[in-house]
Amino acid sequence: MNANETILRSLIAHDDEWGRLYQQELAELLAIMDEAHDRALSGIATLWGKVAETKEHIDATYTDAAKRVKARLDADMPSVGKDESAYIRVLIGEVAQGVALKSSKILWAEVAKLPAASGLTLYQLADNMAVDNIADVVTTVQQGLQAEKTLAEVVRDLRGTVVTKARWVKGKYVPGVYEGGVMTTDTRETEMFARTAIMHVGNSAREAFYEANADIIKAYMRVEVLDERTCIECGIADGRMYKVDEPRPSLPAHPNCRGFYAPVLKSYRELGVDIDELPAGVRASMDGAVPQYKTWRDVVAEGSAARQDAILGPTRARLYRGGMKLDSFVKDGKLVPIKELKQ
Ligand SMILES: [Zn+2]
Repeated sequence: MNANETILRSLIAHDDEWGRLYQQELAELLAIMDEAHDRALSGIATLWGKVAETKEHIDATYTDAAKRVKARLDADMPSVGKDESAYIRVLIGEVAQGVALKSSKILWAEVAKLPAASGLTLYQLADNMAVDNIADVVTTVQQGLQAEKTLAEVVRDLRGTVVTKARWVKGKYVPGVYEGGVMTTDTRETEMFARTAIMHVGNSAREAFYEANADIIKAYMRVEVLDERTCIECGIADGRMYKVDEPRPSLPAHPNCRGFYAPVLKSYRELGVDIDELPAGVRASMDGAVPQYKTWRDVVAEGSAARQDAILGPTRARLYRGGMKLDSFVKDGKLVPIKELKQ
């Protein structure tokens, strides 16, 4: 395996580490959001029938939760960035032996100001999460009152059926399991948020390192974590190469996006390193070759009809098998509606 392939494989495998960080952050954030749900529910019970006060209580509860979410990020994200900076430094250092690397640092205070996904910062996404929770809970209560539902019925509409209650085990938060309910649906937004936070900070740490060491990089390859959750917009961009100074879309491309850039390093010759001083294996490795990689397009092309259905959705998969090009599914980075595709 040459150097650039080693980097690519390692970065893909590192998705597991980001998955672990995501789970950890999610537990922290769910603890905050679940506590807010509990507070909202007890407020609704105490103030039952008093519409204005209830609304005020729900508003204050989730606004406070957003504040706590932001404080959680302030506490957790600096080490996520620091660890990722160290990881990428070690990885590139191992494959680019004999090349002087510059260290890089990322400051959470700076990263927090950058758009994380959909043009919004993590703080803005946290505020949006609160706004969505407020709207969902207030609407459910109002509709319940209008339909003359009982308090118990409204609570069920909100919290669903409790399968297991959230609890703390030896200082670790174990999220509750619920079936149905508006608050359960809102949990998905918290999941999306946690993933976006890890991806944003992780990618930012790498970008800072790449920027500091741009002189040894000749290109970037966009890489998507490939499974049925990979969206078509990102799938089509998978494997795309960018010259080192060419503008690239920033990643994550959207909340929950799991794409990243793998750097393609120059060869020793291009770097002007005296390779005679290096062991034979190392010498052969840094050949500057673009790594071989099975892209999303390959996966779709080689997949069974059932697999294509799962990746593209049945309608698009049928159109694809009928000869439609994958590129026609996306225009300006956005998915073309099926209606338009059929025309
Ligand atoms: Zn995507």
